Amino acid sequence: MKTKTRFAPSPTGHLHIGGARTAIFNWLFSRKNKGDFFLRIENTDRERSSEEMVQSIVDGLKWLGLNWDNDIYYQSEHINEYVSACYELVKRGHAYFCYCSEEELEMKRKEAEQKRIPYKYDRKCLYLSEEEKLKYEREGRGRTIRFKVPDGETVFFDVVHGEIRFKNSEIDDFIILRSDNTPVYNMAVVVDDHNMEITHVIRGDDHISNTPKQILIYQAFGWDIPVFAHVPLILGPDRKRLSKRHGATAVLEYRDKGFLPEAMFNYLCFLGWSPGDNREIMSIEELIDAFDITKIQKKSAIFDQAKLEWMNSEYIRRKENVELLKLVKPFVEKHGYKFEDDTYLLKVITLMKDRVKVLEDFVTFGKYFFEDPVDYDREGIEKYWKDKTSEILSEFVSRIEKIEDYTAPVIERELRSFADEKNIKAGDLIHPIRLAITGMRISPGLFEVMEVLGKETTIRRIKNALDRISVKN
Ligand code: GLU
Repeated sequence: MKTKTRFAPSPTGHLHIGGARTAIFNWLFSRKNKGDFFLRIENTDRERSSEEMVQSIVDGLKWLGLNWDNDIYYQSEHINEYVSACYELVKRGHAYFCYCSEEELEMKRKEAEQKRIPYKYDRKCLYLSEEEKLKYEREGRGRTIRFKVPDGETVFFDVVHGEIRFKNSEIDDFIILRSDNTPVYNMAVVVDDHNMEITHVIRGDDHISNTPKQILIYQAFGWDIPVFAHVPLILGPDRKRLSKRHGATAVLEYRDKGFLPEAMFNYLCFLGWSPGDNREIMSIEELIDAFDITKIQKKSAIFDQAKLEWMNSEYIRRKENVELLKLVKPFVEKHGYKFEDDTYLLKVITLMKDRVKVLEDFVTFGKYFFEDPVDYDREGIEKYWKDKTSEILSEFVSRIEKIEDYTAPVIERELRSFADEKNIKAGDLIHPIRLAITGMRISPGLFEVMEVLGKETTIRRIKNALDRISVKN
């Protein structure tokens, strides 16, 4: 039988870390087994769903490189199927009409609460006589359809959690069709998973409690039950459910900060799964090959931002410079920076690529490649700008002016011989020059930075610093 999985987001929010991880697991599993992976948009809740969120989810999946088979499946286009399935269950005696009003049910709920017993629908409408039903129908009472939960136990084997048992006596006769004729989630999901011939349902742990209800519906129809794998939650470092409090949760926010999709994909795979050896950086092909749902961990995964950043920096380092150029350019432009040509940006990339965690860092840590510094690191001034610094630097500027072959080795040679002549340490020049031309205490190798910036810019910046830093002191 061909493996068929699906990712079934409700378009009520952006694609978040947890959803993306679920999508990836389904995708990997299908690709590994040469099966299909479908995208199903669960938009039966018209109020809370939006076209904008569908687009955002699609963008997130595409950015991660997750392609799906067939067209996107929209639940909103299949409402009639769910409704008729509900009626079919009534016909087969697995469901019944319930005429109880909201107020009536609320009262019973409150009563149970007062008595401190768990509320369960008392099946009043299951036992209505034909006359009573007719009377209610004539009165035009609203009605829902409830599933008649049979006696016994519902047991299923979850790939991640093992055997899971629910006593049916603890399951309420749940509503499958609301009084406004809209089907509930559990009904729609089962009808779809059956019609789409889904073989494996890989989804979040939070759906475990829905699973017995879904299984009861499968059984009522006599349909095959798919394999279930419920993936544990993702927690923040404080072991609370990952949320906005922990930082960005939407996948596209990571794109916008300059995470590479390959790094994000790789990292998300490791949230609750691992290949069982010590590999960490793995290509998509390797991940497909190694993926095994039986190795999904039972315990919750902790989202570790630092680890993701480390992985991203690894992916940046391993990328060809010309590839990085295409990726970094939009960030430079977003910040409104102009640069002469691609060659310039390539040089910046070469110098910076081992030092950044995200693409954005090229422009935040490497700001000075695009504009003259406006202020200078305070600690740097205190530490490196000594009494004689201004005097020595002004003299060194005239030496720089004379350099014809303005390249790192030549600049370095000049600086060192100048330092020897003056009987000072090379550091007495290097540190203040770095401060003057970058505004910072830390940068890639100074001589390389000077070469990339060019002679004119170097001189202008040193002179600016001489004016401004001496004023400050
Ligand atoms: N639409 C559900 C959700 O977003 C997923 C349902 C499922 O995977 O069965 O949580």
